[in-house]
Amino acid sequence: MRTRSVLSLPYSAGVLGASVTGPVDVDGLAWRRTVTANPSIASTGVTTLVGHVIGGAPTPGVGDRRQDVFDPATGHVTAQVALAEQADVDAAVAAALTAAEGWAQTPLGKRAAVMFAFREQLISRTAELAAVITAEHGKVLSDAVGEIGRGLEVVEFACGIPQLLKGEYSDQVATDVDVFSFREPLGVVAGITPFNFPAMVPLWMAPMAIATGNAFILKPSERDPSASLLLAEMWADAGLPDGVFSVLQGDRVAVDGLLTHPDVAAVSFVGSTAVAKHVHATATAHGKRVQALGGAKNHAVVLADADLDLAATHLTAAAFGAAGERCMAVSVALVADEVADALLERLRVTALAVRVAPGGDPASDMGPVITRDAQQRIEQIVTEAVDGGARALVDGRGHTVAGHEGGFFVGPTVLDGVSTGMRAYAEEVFGPVLVVLRVSGLAEAIEIVNANPYGNGTALFTASGDAARTFQRSVSVGMIGINVPIPVPVGWHSFGGWKDSLFGESHVYGPEAVRFYTRGKVVTSRWPRSASTSFHFGRTTAG
Ligand code: NAD
Repeated sequence: MRTRSVLSLPYSAGVLGASVTGPVDVDGLAWRRTVTANPSIASTGVTTLVGHVIGGAPTPGVGDRRQDVFDPATGHVTAQVALAEQADVDAAVAAALTAAEGWAQTPLGKRAAVMFAFREQLISRTAELAAVITAEHGKVLSDAVGEIGRGLEVVEFACGIPQLLKGEYSDQVATDVDVFSFREPLGVVAGITPFNFPAMVPLWMAPMAIATGNAFILKPSERDPSASLLLAEMWADAGLPDGVFSVLQGDRVAVDGLLTHPDVAAVSFVGSTAVAKHVHATATAHGKRVQALGGAKNHAVVLADADLDLAATHLTAAAFGAAGERCMAVSVALVADEVADALLERLRVTALAVRVAPGGDPASDMGPVITRDAQQRIEQIVTEAVDGGARALVDGRGHTVAGHEGGFFVGPTVLDGVSTGMRAYAEEVFGPVLVVLRVSGLAEAIEIVNANPYGNGTALFTASGDAARTFQRSVSVGMIGINVPIPVPVGWHSFGGWKDSLFGESHVYGPEAVRFYTRGKVVTSRWPRSASTSFHFGRTTAG
């Protein structure tokens, strides 16, 4: 039985090698039993209520606002998620503030031990977590396993927190005076995350925030909220004290409550550019440290000397993997004129080979998109491009899957002849749509990349080191791949884009996260020598 989709990139399946096969039996999963058996996350008859975790305790919250959660492969409602009110935000922050005091004083070795234990949890429960992701997001299981693997890298980096928090020391900067610096946690920090990576993006933030001594409140996407509860369970089972990791489900009320709360010291956000701007402006106006990662429009440039088979295979994986719902998905191919027809023919073949089916089906390469609205918006953008003169080389509109006619499926779509004025180019489509623009060469490609308002990722396919160097030094983009289509940095580097893809100067995870989640202290100390100190500072020749 296949355990990997053909759209999995070699490095995107993570390091776990976890085997997840067969259709997803959501009802049989441990997390579901835990959720329904929990008295405060009560079953509401036809659906399950996905609630908050505040101070270590599951709770439905004070209000009764709810939102449906769908299985995108069937279109059926599978649960409802509680939407927090301001009182829930206040309760979560109060519990986190109390927990933060004790956690900040916990010795580094003990904090590291929790990180190691959480790592074991994540590894041993990968299949369960992947199934939860697939059931609500729709991506194929191998891709869900891949996102957990990328999150695991951050956990492993956080396991080295005693080394990462080592301070600096200058001996004898003046007579009897030493200077040393160290970093302290901020207190309560919040993470607001998007639907497209319900485990990986929280794992970009929480392990580093917690390892550095903070209490972390996760506000996951309301569209696929259940992975957050499983993560909370894993933290608790790893021995993390109650209240150090909390989950607040909800919408704008929860987000704005966190952005304006006086006891929240910092906010990490990942999501669309419009909301990232709002988060950055509001939280900075309320005196908080903010990193707000926004949307993207990632261009891959294919030069005439590129290996076209490699480029076509990788572009297909990067454009259609996870149905294009990745912030690092390649959505634009800038192809040198002289090889454009040859590449397009290869892309036609590879795109048509993508098997579209529910993410829990082991034969599936690509699952549905997240909602009916997303499906209709994506198809509308394709229709406008075709009406405006673009050619749909492969057309995914109206794609149906037998037995899953209510699912939110869109097939792979390749558009040739797109102009920069069309919505298909100008907007982040966030679906399985690859638009192709023909260019005269590297210089024109760099101009187009740099004129785009986004600057998350970009890639170059070439056989020339000179072209690669020119490209990597000229583009105004944060993450660059050379013959690598999705250059998401490994967990011990940091991740971040430029321009409309990031507001605030700090990237997420890796070394930049250690600084983001802490603030520095420098001590200049004088201990004058007393008369009783007869110690001789001169070197001896002995020993
Ligand atoms: P989104 O902006 O709609 O939602 C992100 C979070 O913000 C969610 O938790 C949501 O509840 C909250 N939110 C939504 N509208 C809000 C509002 N008006 N006020 C306050 N909070 C609000 O994003 P999404 O659709 O969940 O995710 C897809 C987007 O995320 C894409 O644009 C994608 O490029 C981006 N993304 C970026 C990165 C990156 O690293 N730059 C990574 C993943 C996803």
